[in-house]
Formats: sequence, C-alpha cells, structure tokens
Amino acid sequence: MDLIELKENIKIIALDSGANLFGVGSRERLEGNPPSADMDYSLPRAQSCIIWAYPNDIEALENYFSKKERWSIKVLQDLGYATGWRTAQQIAKFIEDNTDYKAHPIIPNGKYRGGIGSAMKNAESFPPFSLRYGAVAAGLGHLGWSGNLVSKEYGGSLYLDGVLTTAPLEADPMAEENNCNQCKICQKVCTTGYVAKEEPEERQPVVIGGVKQTYGKRGTYMRCGVGCAGFTGLSEDATWSTWTADHTCLKKIPDKDLTRGYMRNLVQQLMSGRETPRQLRKFNQRIAASFAKVGKSENVGLRPIEDTNPRCGNCNFICVADPKKRAELYKMLKTSGIMYLDDKGREYVKKIDENGKEIIYYPPTWEEYKKEKGI
Ligand code: SF4
Ligand code: SF4
Repeated sequence: MDLIELKENIKIIALDSGANLFGVGSRERLEGNPPSADMDYSLPRAQSCIIWAYPNDIEALENYFSKKERWSIKVLQDLGYATGWRTAQQIAKFIEDNTDYKAHPIIPNGKYRGGIGSAMKNAESFPPFSLRYGAVAAGLGHLGWSGNLVSKEYGGSLYLDGVLTTAPLEADPMAEENNCNQCKICQKVCTTGYVAKEEPEERQPVVIGGVKQTYGKRGTYMRCGVGCAGFTGLSEDATWSTWTADHTCLKKIPDKDLTRGYMRNLVQQLMSGRETPRQLRKFNQRIAASFAKVGKSENVGLRPIEDTNPRCGNCNFICVADPKKRAELYKMLKTSGIMYLDDKGREYVKKIDENGKEIIYYPPTWEEYKKEKGI
C-alpha cells in the first residue's frame, strides 16, 4: 500500500468512528518545542502524527450549561475518549498490518510522564505526547487562550485522539487563521483560576510549523485537577456552580497560598471532614473512586461510561466556533443556579427564575435519561 492510499484508509477509519475533523502533522513542525511535542518519547523515529476530533453537540452544551441535564455531554465524552481510544488502536493496527511502518496509539488522557503521582504532586505535569500540539501540526487549528486546540469549524469544544507513526505521510496544510478571538470566556467560566486572565504563558514557548502559539499562563496544575473532577466549583460571586455540590471557589486563592498542604487538607475535609455533610462526603468518595480507577489504568480511554461524569470541563466545552453562541452559553451558565444534594444524595438545582423567584428542580438521573433516550 503506498502512502497516499494508506492516509486515505486511515482517514476513512477515523471518520467512520464519528470524528468530524482529521489531519496529519509532520515531525519537523513539532521540533524544538516542549517535551510533550517529542514524538520519539512514545515512538522512536516517528515521522507523522495522525489526529482527529469529535466535536460536542450544541443542544448537549445548552443542556449542560443551563443545568437541564449533563448526560448528553457524558455520552459525547465517552465517544471522545473510549471510542477515540479504540479507533486509535484500530488505526495503529491497520498501519502495522498493511505496511512495514510502526504505529503507536496515543492515550487520550490520564497518562503523565512520571506517572499519575507526579500529576498530583507537581505544579505541572506533561503527557507522553500532546494531542493539542499534534492537532496544531496536523492543521486542525491553533492553541486558544485556554490552551485547548481551537478549530475553525467547532472552536475548542471537541475531543482529540491520535496515532504516531514512522510512516512519512503527507502533512496537511497548517490552519491559516487562529480562531481564538481572545473573548476570555474560557477564563470566566473557570471557578478555579487555572488559566490567567491577562498574562500569557511564557515558561515554554510553543512554535509549531513556524507559528507561535499563545495561551494563558497556567496556575498550579491541581487547580484544574480538583475543579474538573468535581470536588469544587463555585463562581466568584457565589451565584452559580459547576455540576458539583461542593461550594468552594478556588479562584479567589492566590497560587502562593494554594500549597500542597492546602490541597491535601481541602481534599481530606471534603472526603471525611466532620464539617462536610454525609451525603457530600459520599459524593466526593465516589468521585475519588472513579478517578482512582483511571489512575490505575493510566488511560481515560478505558473508563466505562458509568464512571464518566462531566462536572466541569467548562473552559473547553464553552469554546464553540460561533462567538455569539459562546456568549449565550455563558449567560446560560450564569443563570443556571447552584447544584445541591438532597438527603438521599440525589442532585438538585436551586436557581432564580426570570421572574426573580427561587425555584428548585431535579434534573433527570442517568437512569431516567437512558430510559428516555432508549439507551
Ligand atoms: S473561549 Fe474565547 S478566549 Fe478562550 S480559547 Fe475560546 S475563543 Fe479563545
Ligand atoms: S476544566 Fe474546569 S477547572 Fe479545569 S481549567 Fe477548565 S474550567 Fe477550570
């Protein structure tokens, strides 16, 4: 099979799995960048990165940000991680079965250089290969302020997957424009302050295919670790939450005070502290148990859908391609209220409706959602 036919066949496999964007990047475009741009770490003498993406659906995002339900995003996240991982294995096998080239499926998330322990301990942590860098090299877009890949077609509201190969496939053209319009909505919807509002990240310049990638300065890695998992998530003005019942806003706490000791005490308090209501402790213990499974497998692509529980992801989800829709989703979030747990541990939402009246409602459970959708 020649390289043109090989690339065509790979593209068909990716698109057939449900992906909407596909591209190939070259080794040269990634050279001279931070360690996670180094293909050799995962596959010695790799020449190309093959990257594809599954976008979020707008209705699912509206439901997520308005707190109508979070299960449609759960299903899409499972597509991006579990289906994406299976597809990566399928593509790697296809390359090795049909050519003499080597291929390496990239773990979509959950694997860090130095192990998961380093991700918990250190202020920063790096994957074996960055799918975001790979996606820029493959022409899918550029890094936005959030640090996520922002594409022309779907913005940054998507899931990336990929394969490295020693096959010197023809690289696709780099994306012409950077579609991040610096709206900073990604920063506004984060309750942990992981990405700075004004200051760009300067520690490790990222220049891919000759194009400098600019993104916001990162705070301590565990800010996002804690918030994205759902251990905390309250807005600075305490009017809305993420899909978590833990009402702590980490954004207000400067990095110098957010020490390892602080984080350890916080998590200990949330998990077993007397001041934390029993239902909340159980809720946090469930989150910790599902993350421990990912920690053990070091691969989010192996996580069963039952353990896939989106609670934040805001910076990524909200970055849809249309800036007007992005602003609409932000408005939905700001008026979506705060999530609580009742005595039985069921999630409910308290919010102020358009008439200024406080209302309480119960979003569907996963079981109810599955029944309604016939899943
Ligand atoms: S939300 Fe706005 S600032 Fe943030 S990455 Fe997307 S386009 Fe850029
Ligand atoms: S996933 Fe959530 S907590 Fe993490 S950086 Fe994005 S918005 Fe902030």
